[in-house]
Amino acid sequence: MQYYSTNGQSPEVSLQEAVVKGLASDKGLFMPKQIKRLPESFFQNMKDLSFQEIAFEVAKAFFGEDVEEAALKEIVYDTLSFDVPLVHVNDNIYSLELYHGPTLAFKDVGGRFMSRLLGYFIRKQGQKQVNVLVATSGDTGSAVANGFLGVEGIHVYVLYPKGKVSPIQECQFTTLGKNITALEIDGVFDDCQALVKSAFMDADLNKHMNLTSANSINVARFLPQAFYYFYAYAQLQKLGKEKEAVICVPSGNFGNITAGLFGKRMGLPIKRFIAANNRNDIFYQYLLTGEYNPRPSVQTIANAMDVGAPSNFARILDLYKNSHKDICAEISGCTYNDDQIRTTIKQVFDQHKYLLDPHGAVGYQAVADQLKPGEVGVFLETAHPAKFKDTVEPIVGAIEIPEKLQAFMRGTKQSIELPKDFASFKQFLLNE
Ligand SMILES: *Cc1c(COP(=O)(O)O)cnc(C)c1O
Repeated sequence: MQYYSTNGQSPEVSLQEAVVKGLASDKGLFMPKQIKRLPESFFQNMKDLSFQEIAFEVAKAFFGEDVEEAALKEIVYDTLSFDVPLVHVNDNIYSLELYHGPTLAFKDVGGRFMSRLLGYFIRKQGQKQVNVLVATSGDTGSAVANGFLGVEGIHVYVLYPKGKVSPIQECQFTTLGKNITALEIDGVFDDCQALVKSAFMDADLNKHMNLTSANSINVARFLPQAFYYFYAYAQLQKLGKEKEAVICVPSGNFGNITAGLFGKRMGLPIKRFIAANNRNDIFYQYLLTGEYNPRPSVQTIANAMDVGAPSNFARILDLYKNSHKDICAEISGCTYNDDQIRTTIKQVFDQHKYLLDPHGAVGYQAVADQLKPGEVGVFLETAHPAKFKDTVEPIVGAIEIPEKLQAFMRGTKQSIELPKDFASFKQFLLNE
């Protein structure tokens, strides 16, 4: 499969090149040239298939031309070694719990898949050592670092703002060692992201080492997220609830929802999507006005969605050929502030005994507000509530920390402190 750039100014590339480069040379995002439709028979019998079996069919449509079937199967099965249960909350509303992976975040799926695919290119196709740079304000760093831990031929540098990441999240990527280096930057998240961007554009560094990104701009990170949309549908089918399914995605950079839109293009019978925003409602405003006005992000308690210029917006525009009307026909939006998010967490816990994290709460509320008669709503619960303990506990009382998280907290922190100027970061990488 060839991949083109959303900016249309650079040549098409192979899957391997798209994954190793991350971003096209014209700064556009890579898109597969074709989105294959899966046969009707596949959708009819989905309820009888396991998560891995379903994902393997979807993976073959994306990657089957570029990865040998047996190797692809191994990558998929190894990535999805945990469940993604659909849990009933109330009425016609279900939570798709994406947080049962190693770091308790939905990004585990994309992080693990990408690491294994890159590992395959290195082993089988002679790809030289790849260095992954990832700037994080929390969850991305932990999912990517854990996904890539111990994968030969790949080194990961996690850049994070000193003192601005929660202690639980910090220990998930600073205690690993091996091929994971945590860089503690004396600045804010935007400084970390600026350092990564400058590194990608620096000629000396690119001569010195292969650099790629494991953010959702990378096709190997975002496309595998389509897997669980199919599995959600299969679980609805098992319940006889698959007709008129609406899926709601708490969104930041819009990689997650874009993967779902790809699923719909492949024939997955989802009626429509809801893109749920916190106060960073750039996409919601776009739906209302047809104008895309990125602006600096504001801090909220659903901080993984604090994005002022959603990177995958370019992919959504490309998918719908820039038609605002077509986008509005399939996606609706909403925006909630911190007080509303807190109220939702409390109400759902009190009334339905279901514990939401702040991101899932945005998703739940959007479904509760927008579901029409006859529709069945599924919101993606993107992180375990314990990861946002400091926000959730004052609302619902003490919550249990899962053993997986406690294990990280027992490790020893190893990180390298760096100032926020590019010259120091560049020198550090040149010495590696
Ligand atoms: C990353 C993240 C999101 C936003 O996902 P996008 O793909 O960037 O839209 C939502 N919730 C949580 C918990 C996240 O970590």
